[in-house]
Amino acid sequence: MPDSSVYDLIIIGGGPGGLAAGIYAMRAALKTVLIEKGAHGGQMTMSDEVENYPGFEQISGMELSMKFAEHARSYGIEMISDEVEAIEPGLEHHEVRLAGGEVIRGYAVVLATGGSPRKLGIPGEDKYYGKGVSYCAVCDGFFFREKTVAVVGGGDTACEEALYLAKLARHVYLIHRRDELRASKILQKRVMDECKIEVLWNTLATEVLADEQGVNAVAIEDARTGDNRQLDVEGAFIFIGFEPNNALVPAGVKMNADGYVMTNEKCETAIPGLFVIGDLREKYARQIVVSAADGATAALAAAHFVETKKSAEVCELPAAG
Ligand code: NAP
Repeated sequence: MPDSSVYDLIIIGGGPGGLAAGIYAMRAALKTVLIEKGAHGGQMTMSDEVENYPGFEQISGMELSMKFAEHARSYGIEMISDEVEAIEPGLEHHEVRLAGGEVIRGYAVVLATGGSPRKLGIPGEDKYYGKGVSYCAVCDGFFFREKTVAVVGGGDTACEEALYLAKLARHVYLIHRRDELRASKILQKRVMDECKIEVLWNTLATEVLADEQGVNAVAIEDARTGDNRQLDVEGAFIFIGFEPNNALVPAGVKMNADGYVMTNEKCETAIPGLFVIGDLREKYARQIVVSAADGATAALAAAHFVETKKSAEVCELPAAG
C-alpha cells in the first residue's frame, strides 16, 4: 500500500525550473513539496529586465519570479524554506535531509539547484566582496550612483549588467579578455551605443585593490603586450559565467567535465525517480524559458513514474485471507 507520509514529488530549488515543475506537478495532482533556501526565482531575481520570456515584452526578474511563485502557490503547493544537506536515493523512495534536521521522503525528486557566479580567483576578489566587489548589479548597483565602476566579462550577463549600471554610475569600464564580445548581437549594439560604457578590449583584471573606504582600483593587464596599469574604480562587478551547483548530486549520476548533469530528454538520471532540470542540467541554452520547459518535462515524467510505482505497490499486496 502506498505510504501516505511520503511525498509524490520533492522539488529542490525555487528558480524558474523548480517553480514550473511545481505548477505542472500540482496540476497532475502529485503531493508535492518545494524546498528553497533563499528567495524564489533564483538567478532570475538578479536580472533588472527580462525581455525574452514569451508573453512579457519587458518585466523585471524580481516581478517575473513573484509571478512564477504566486502561480505555483495558487495550486496550494507546500513550500519549505530550508537548505537541503543531502539526497539519499532509495529503492522504495528517496530521502532528502534538511539542514534543520528534518528528513522528508519522496517517490520522486526534481533537483533544480541551478548555478552560481564563477569567480575570477584574483587577489582582493574574496577579501573585498561586499566592500565594492559584487556579482549582482541589481542588488548592489544603487550604492554606486555617480561613481565609476568596472564590469568584468563579455557575455550576455556582463553586458546586461553593464547597461544596468550605466543608468546609475558615472562611468562603466567593461573589461573583456578578448577583442570580441560573446554576448548576443542586440546586447553588443546596446553596449556600443551607451556612451557611459567604455570597453577595454584584450584586457585582464589581475587584482582588486582597496583602502579603508572599500574598493578604489582594479589592476589590469593588456593581454597582448603584458602592460600593467591601475583603473580607478569604486566597484568591481564580476560576470564571467557561472558554475553548476552540483553538491547535492548523488553518486552514480553522470556529470560532464564541467560538472553539469547529463540526463535523457525526460530529464531523468540513472537513478530511477531522480530528475535534474534547469541550469544544473547539461544543455545548449541557459535561459529562463528553457529552465521552465525542463520543469514541465520533469514534472510530467515524474507523474508517470510515481503513478507506475504506486500501482506496482498496490499490486504487490498479499492476497487477503
Ligand atoms: P558566458 O556566456 O559563459 O560568458 C562569460 C564571459 O566571461 C565570456 O565573455 C568569457 O570570455 C568571460 N570569462 C570567462 N572566464 C573568464 C576569466 N577567467 N577571465 C576573464 N573573462 C572570463 O556567461 P554569462 O554571460 O553569465 O551567460 C551564461 C548563460 O546565460 C549564457 O548561455 C547566456 O546566453 C545566458 N544569459 C542569457 C541572458 C539573456 O538572454 N537575456 C542573460 C544572461 C545570461 P570569452 O568570451 O573570452 O570566453
